[in-house]
Amino acid sequence: MIRRDIAGRGICDPETLDAMRTVPREEFVPVNLRSSAYYDRPLPIGYGQTISQPYIVAFMTEILNLQPASRVLEVGTGSGYQAAVLAEIAGEVFTIEIVEPLGVSAQTRLGSLGYTNVQTRIGDGYYGWPDQSPFDTIIVTAAASHIPPPLIEQLKPGGRMIIPVGSVMQVQHLLLVQKDLQGKVTQRSIMPVRFVPLTRGSGRRR
Ligand code: SAH
Repeated sequence: MIRRDIAGRGICDPETLDAMRTVPREEFVPVNLRSSAYYDRPLPIGYGQTISQPYIVAFMTEILNLQPASRVLEVGTGSGYQAAVLAEIAGEVFTIEIVEPLGVSAQTRLGSLGYTNVQTRIGDGYYGWPDQSPFDTIIVTAAASHIPPPLIEQLKPGGRMIIPVGSVMQVQHLLLVQKDLQGKVTQRSIMPVRFVPLTRGSGRRR
């Protein structure tokens, strides 16, 4: 899969490729779908959610330009697969999931696989994780109608964020948002994508 679908489609950052080779995707999919774990496809993980397609996971990881000291915020833990890939490269990963049973099982799974540099939390990631901010990089793995202002606030000057924006009915675009050292924010559209929607739980901070 790595040779054909990841490197073969243009991912060339050695650290991203190593991380994709190291993280056992079969551990992140339901037992009955394990034989499909190494097809380059999203797969259902319950509660109407999916584990992203490996190529997209690799693409989003590469574009973040992670460093060993990077502190990363992920919104949308899901299975925890993307968090594990990030944790192979970055120093610390903070990941938020709104569906409690998914967040709890991702936490258990990441712990049993030895990812001590990932912290998980249940809540509405729209508001980010103020206590741990600012972050060098932010990755959102569910599609939002707009870039959540709290996430822009929690991005360090010089940092970058990757986020799919658009509704389920429309084409969504993967946006790369950059904050320069003066705090000026720019964004560019990278490619059309399809993600599950970013939902807003109770509307209050959790
Ligand atoms: N990164 C995941 C795939 C995520 S699918 C993986 O590697 O498996 C998107 C996830 O975002 C779903 O689990 C969904 O429940 C979660 N989500 C949706 N809205 C959210 C919100 N407001 N805050 C946090 N998580 C959210």
